[in-house]
Amino acid sequence: MRAVDVLKRKKLGQELSSEEIRFLIDGLTRGEIPRYQLSAFLMAVYFRGMTDEETAALTEAMLRSGVVLDFSDLHGPKVDKHSTGGVGDKTSLVIAPLAASAGLFVPMITGRGLGHSGGTLDKLQSIPGFDVHLDEHAFRRVVSTVGAAIIGQTKTIAPADRKLYALRDVTSTIESLPLITGSILSKKLAEGISGLVLDVKVGSGAFMKTREEATALARLLLVTAGTMGTRTVALLTDMSQPLGAQVGNASEVEEAIAALKGEGPDDLTRLSLQLTAHMLVVGGLYRTLEEAIRRAEEELRSGRGLEKFLEIVKAQGGNPSVVDGTGLARARSSKAVRAQRDGFVTAIETEGVGTAAMLLGAGRERVEDAIDPGAGLVVHNKIGDEVKRGDPLVTLQYNDGRARVADAERRIVQSYTISEEAPNERPELLIEILEQNDRERTT
Ligand code: URA
Repeated sequence: MRAVDVLKRKKLGQELSSEEIRFLIDGLTRGEIPRYQLSAFLMAVYFRGMTDEETAALTEAMLRSGVVLDFSDLHGPKVDKHSTGGVGDKTSLVIAPLAASAGLFVPMITGRGLGHSGGTLDKLQSIPGFDVHLDEHAFRRVVSTVGAAIIGQTKTIAPADRKLYALRDVTSTIESLPLITGSILSKKLAEGISGLVLDVKVGSGAFMKTREEATALARLLLVTAGTMGTRTVALLTDMSQPLGAQVGNASEVEEAIAALKGEGPDDLTRLSLQLTAHMLVVGGLYRTLEEAIRRAEEELRSGRGLEKFLEIVKAQGGNPSVVDGTGLARARSSKAVRAQRDGFVTAIETEGVGTAAMLLGAGRERVEDAIDPGAGLVVHNKIGDEVKRGDPLVTLQYNDGRARVADAERRIVQSYTISEEAPNERPELLIEILEQNDRERTT
């Protein structure tokens, strides 16, 4: 087989066979096919798209480019959650312990933040001592003894994705549904899970800005995961404003702990319970969502979720005193960004809020940038809230030096729309639940 012939077929819009796709991905992994040919392949896929069968073959080839973990010796369902990312989204820190204390195994491999969007790994690394680089043996030990472990990408998990993503980044081919699907699922399914819950964010702070785009991605993820034999459900959830009040790393850990104590913001708590409950259903522990939600609530109310969080922190070498509010980094300086007029918050350009946090040091502009764990911001007002001129909308938290405070302040001012009239409604947190058999349930 010759790469040029495969490229020509894709260029002409013909459907590639799984052998052809495997040939390209194996060639990429082994460094046998030059980057210029793979770049041409990516551009052809970008314009021609892929059939569901091609997307499944791509995902499978990417998955098989590395290690696929095998937890079949553990007696119980192995389920994870994946979020397409947003601002203030710290649900993984709440969900992993709740799901594990309810009886699931949660082998969570997660990523870093980039640009306006935060990453679970950065948040966990703000816990002193917390080791996100457990080797496969240690990861397996923590998952089997504690029920959940959360680590970063390893070199051996889906190595084709790392290479392909880097090429997509420089060839302007990131925004392709089959390529996104292959990228997300090859990493998640390498965890050896039998069930997956997808939190597909929609809105100004999300990767997918419109419901149509988010639905198209969710559908392709569901179909592809189904082809690979993984029971999956997708929740379309709101990202037209930040989730919870805290945006940062240490402060998001603190807010997640508050949620596990039953003292978290309502949106974070509700979404975490929903996602946990769907994990319990997908894992087969409950037949109905109602029963599963009751169980998730019980894990929260009883404090068992918080205890499980503590177990995870200890097992991964973290300082357990973070649960009592000590040990987490705090910023030395703060500054309120105030409303410039009376009115109602009618829209938030949430990507701008995430970018403001990044400018303060909470995120990274480039992959190699370092994070300031104490930097971030607190969101005081959300869509629908009435504000008076001079009320704080957001408090910036930063350490002097690297923080670009004036830029961050400008971003926040630009991100908030304050109008005379109240909006007709506040955004719905849970927009839609999409299931694998194509039945849609609107909540
Ligand atoms: N997240 C990923 O892991 N890959 C993509 O391509 C997009 C989002």
